Amino acid sequence: MKAVVVGAGIAGLVAARQLGLAGWDVEILEKSAAPRPDGYMMDFFGPGVEASERIGLYRRLAAVAYHVEAAEYVDAAGRPTSSIDYDQFARLAGGKVLSLLRPDMERAALAALDDVAPGRVRVRYGAPVSRVWSDDDGVRVAVDGSPDVTFAADVLVGADGIHSAVRAQVFGPEEEYLRPLGMRAAAFIVTEPLLNARFRNRFVLTDSIDRMAGLYSLRSDEVAAFMVYRDGAVSSGRQRPGTPRDRLRREFAGLGRAVDRLLELCPERPYDDVVAQIVMPGWQRARTVLVGDACGAVSLLAGQGGSLAIAGAALLGDILGPVASPDGISSALAEFERRWRPVVEEAQAAGRRAASSFLPSNRTQRFLRRWIIRATHLPGIDRLVARQIVGRIAK
Ligand SMILES: Cc1cc2nc3c(=O)[nH]c(=O)nc-3n(C[C@H](O)[C@H](O)[C@H](O)COP(=O)(O)OP(=O)(O)OC[C@H]3O[C@@H](n4cnc5c(N)ncnc54)[C@H](O)[C@@H]3O)c2cc1C
Repeated sequence: MKAVVVGAGIAGLVAARQLGLAGWDVEILEKSAAPRPDGYMMDFFGPGVEASERIGLYRRLAAVAYHVEAAEYVDAAGRPTSSIDYDQFARLAGGKVLSLLRPDMERAALAALDDVAPGRVRVRYGAPVSRVWSDDDGVRVAVDGSPDVTFAADVLVGADGIHSAVRAQVFGPEEEYLRPLGMRAAAFIVTEPLLNARFRNRFVLTDSIDRMAGLYSLRSDEVAAFMVYRDGAVSSGRQRPGTPRDRLRREFAGLGRAVDRLLELCPERPYDDVVAQIVMPGWQRARTVLVGDACGAVSLLAGQGGSLAIAGAALLGDILGPVASPDGISSALAEFERRWRPVVEEAQAAGRRAASSFLPSNRTQRFLRRWIIRATHLPGIDRLVARQIVGRIAK
């Protein structure tokens, strides 16, 4: 059996590996010219932890994880206003939490393709998929810029993220499925030895209204920054003037010296995208299935997108892997959606509930967030708070 997987993000790499291990022949097509070096720090907890342990990926992830002692909210003078220690967070999140840089996570998943028999899974970088269609042999895809080269497969796995081209080709335009949550998020990595030394082992977040900057020191002299801000222009479709960096400098002025320094060093075009979820009535059609953010983005508010991407892709591998003839494909894809959709929908609901505490829009909401964080130290209340923040912790 043959699969084409579009996207070498975490979902695509895991789905490809699991199908390869089950004996499938897999072609991964990725639009970036090479593994993406840019990214942000991610908390990895929930369903992906158990799934990665089961498929033998967890130890590779743990090997590149950072040790975070606490997440600390600070005021503009850098004074802590509330904090949550990561042992506590791990307990609330139902077990283990790893702090991983997204590119490290993807590199670990890429390296794990070595577990598959040589040649069975091939990754082609610089291959942006632009067209998808079906014919008698199954599904076929074409890559932008190479009109004469097409890839045929029994199954097409669209793992190409929140702005999925496979989804647009097979299920319809993005506007039908993208649900903006009224915010934008930006992320970038800068070299800054002084900030790096100052913030080691702590995830520092500004305790601000309508915007939040977060930073974390990396192993070298680098600092990973992410910035989230409310953006009315997102839902109304209006564009804000200037480059993403101009926009960030405008939105994040006055949040203290560390943020000013990050903005000074910010590249002109950092990662900068709408914070949104993908909500679709169906994730599979004929021989095509979507996985990860492409069909069920939960947004950074749920803090579990990477975790769900791994767990969903592993489950897809479990269900589709044993299928040995085209006759079994559609029922396997339907079974995958039937089992995985409730978990994704619950995480999406948790993400929407978290919106006001994640980014308070007034002093009362900010006060409430401080209270919630402090309440995590009270026995009994902690589970309620965890449920509010991260939804059901799937075991
Ligand atoms: C700022 C921020 C913070 C986050 N924090 C967390 C966190 O703490 N914990 C957590 O679990 N999750 C977090 N997430 C969410 C997480 O990053 C995503 O849910 C996860 O990366 C989704 O993985 P994916 O493989 O489905 O998609 P992606 O990571 O988006 O990968 C899709 C891949 O497809 C490729 N691609 C796209 N279009 C094409 C095309 N036409 N042809 C070929 N290739 C294509 C892309 O280049 C990319 O490599 C965060 C997200 C953001 C933005």
